[in-house]
Amino acid sequence: MSRNEELFERSRKLIPGGVNSPVRAFGGVGGVPRFFQRGEGARVFDADGQAYIDYVCSWGPLLHGHAHPDVLKAVHAAVDRGLSFGAPTGLELEMAETLCALMPSLEQVRLVSSGTEATMSAIRLARGFTGRSRILKFDGCYHGHGDALLVKAGSGALTFGQPSSGGVPPEVAALTSVVDYNDEAAVRRAFADYGNEIAAVIVEPIAGNMNFVLPAAGFLQTLRELCTQHGAVLIFDEVMTGFRVALGGVQALYGIRPDLTTLGKVIGGGLPVAAFGGRRDIMGRLAPMGPVYQAGTLSGNPVAVSAGLANLRLARQDGFYDMLGERTREVTEGIALRGQAAGFPVCALSVGGMFGLFFRPAPPRNLAEVMECDRDTFNRFFHAMLDEGVYLAPSAYEAGFVSGAHGSVEIQQTLAAAERAFARIKA
Ligand SMILES: *Cc1c(COP(=O)(O)O)cnc(C)c1O
Repeated sequence: MSRNEELFERSRKLIPGGVNSPVRAFGGVGGVPRFFQRGEGARVFDADGQAYIDYVCSWGPLLHGHAHPDVLKAVHAAVDRGLSFGAPTGLELEMAETLCALMPSLEQVRLVSSGTEATMSAIRLARGFTGRSRILKFDGCYHGHGDALLVKAGSGALTFGQPSSGGVPPEVAALTSVVDYNDEAAVRRAFADYGNEIAAVIVEPIAGNMNFVLPAAGFLQTLRELCTQHGAVLIFDEVMTGFRVALGGVQALYGIRPDLTTLGKVIGGGLPVAAFGGRRDIMGRLAPMGPVYQAGTLSGNPVAVSAGLANLRLARQDGFYDMLGERTREVTEGIALRGQAAGFPVCALSVGGMFGLFFRPAPPRNLAEVMECDRDTFNRFFHAMLDEGVYLAPSAYEAGFVSGAHGSVEIQQTLAAAERAFARIKA
């Protein structure tokens, strides 16, 4: 038995499914999850000593790869000064100044410890600000595991949602409306029918939790206009895309100013930091200034914030995103071309350091099209790549990530691996 198998068997006895977050269990692709011991640059090393080029990057945070010396140095220095104070620190101010400078829609920002907390708090704040209860979200967008957002489309004209998870009361889910991503007409209908009930529209402005889906031309602009017209709060959930697709996030790429933004992943550099922020008049409703309560014992933790600040400092270096975007495009288009040459209908899309690889002829525009991909072929490709020493996201429905540590050596190795993997699964 391999060490990975042994660890998984023992973990399953004590940890539900053997993992602390479901997708890690390899449920979608089958087989035994790799237990990682160490990471360095673009590579991770599992419990059996096997090395992999990593295209998950901890699901996004590791913008500069594993164990970047600058990030580690910042963390070590912070650790030496003490782990937590439960009182304000100058580091939190530096993080707030950095975020507000890089993302002009942020007039004020509050730090939390996970993306889930950020979206939950943003929703409560939007409800407190508007005095309304209904939320509009999009099918296939993931906003963490808060009750109000674990909701899928129900049947019926008003698209009142149904729980997508056990334990979410139908009464709670009924306050969330769900429409298809990129379906402008459905959003217009929702606002026409009950626009004065909608507290917030929450959207992944580029969707990265149903593989990778770009907003159609004008889609985000329409959301902006409808929210303004009806007094609803527009929330861009940029937990994944923030500082991943561009320095200022999707809102900088598309030139749209949301009312609130949620951040996470990259801003913690691999440690738990997340944030929500936006319009001053809305943020001013938060405790202790206003009546909307929100708090956290470890919010703005100095060690975590130090890692995030170091991550962002590296991201601000001249040309970083051009370089990252170029490499991401090279490796993902290269994989797609090799797949096509082997006769598979594969295509790829990327923005900055985030990408989608699709086992279907064209990039999907919504969840239904994402679900049309050839999952069987993806799964065989995934395992063939794993055997070749390349670690892709263990699911056909997840986005992938490239870091600044992925250089031309890693990219050429990945492309050679892909060519062999496609040849193998074809045979
Ligand atoms: C990851 C993610 C979240 C949840 O963040 P956690 O830190 O896992 O709680 C929320 N929204 C989006 C868009 C995400 O990608």
